Amino acid sequence: KAWVSIMYGCNNFCTYCIVPYVRGRERSREPEQILEEVRGLVAEGYKDITLLGQNVNSYGKDLDSNVDFADLLAQINDISGDFLVRFMTSHPKDASKELVDVMASSPKIARHFHLPVQSGSTRVLNAMNRRYTREQYLEKARYIKEKIPDAALTTDIICGFPGETEEEFDETVSLVREVGFDMLYCFIYSPRRGTAAEKMPGRIPHDEQVRRFERLTAAQNEMSLKANEKYVGKTLRLLSDGDEDGKHTARSSQNKIVTLDRFVPAGTFFDAEITASHPFTLEGKVL
Ligand code: SF4
Repeated sequence: KAWVSIMYGCNNFCTYCIVPYVRGRERSREPEQILEEVRGLVAEGYKDITLLGQNVNSYGKDLDSNVDFADLLAQINDISGDFLVRFMTSHPKDASKELVDVMASSPKIARHFHLPVQSGSTRVLNAMNRRYTREQYLEKARYIKEKIPDAALTTDIICGFPGETEEEFDETVSLVREVGFDMLYCFIYSPRRGTAAEKMPGRIPHDEQVRRFERLTAAQNEMSLKANEKYVGKTLRLLSDGDEDGKHTARSSQNKIVTLDRFVPAGTFFDAEITASHPFTLEGKVL
């Protein structure tokens, strides 16, 4: 596995986040430099390459080269060799249809879209300065599912943002159920010094934040189990992680962790039949 930074910094100033203050504005690396690095990694035998940036979807906006993130992915997909490319993190406001279309037609781009929604309430999203609405997010999620039916969709959510009412939190739970995420990374809001949210009124008591966190986690566990059940009986192409914590494990293009019935050397692509599902993992029989 290898990780390649394609850009640094962030221009977004979400009101809860300190990143733009400490990392500065967005700076993209030149596409040729990135392509050269990925070609080198593939030649060295790396199989699972993750492109990194605070908001990879705005890659290239600061360059003269006219290459955006979708173009970059398409060019990486054209590099010869057997490998998978992942990326994180995406900002929903910049996740374009072109990007989804390129993913759909590029077999080396992993079938996994991590698209942090943060809240299901447009009012809270506005207070977070996320610059998309609940409806716009739902529309993007629908487009991803329609164009890449085998993609896994995961997200981040902040529970108990200042001023979040019970009804607004209900909207988050309903969005989670409507989208049917494969996995959800849920965070309890805590203030970061120097951010706009730190000074917002309506701080939610910790006990209440925990209650919301637990409610959301319970809803997601149901959805994760449902999302994983559909793989049982299917054959997935996996990349072995070798042995981890005494278990033989591998990952699918969707970033599903699969525990195997026998050892496969790390870094090997192979097929497995999925024999059982759990909320966070699958079980597989090596074929
Ligand atoms: Fe940028 Fe992400 Fe922080 Fe928003 S949450 S300011 S997009 S790094």
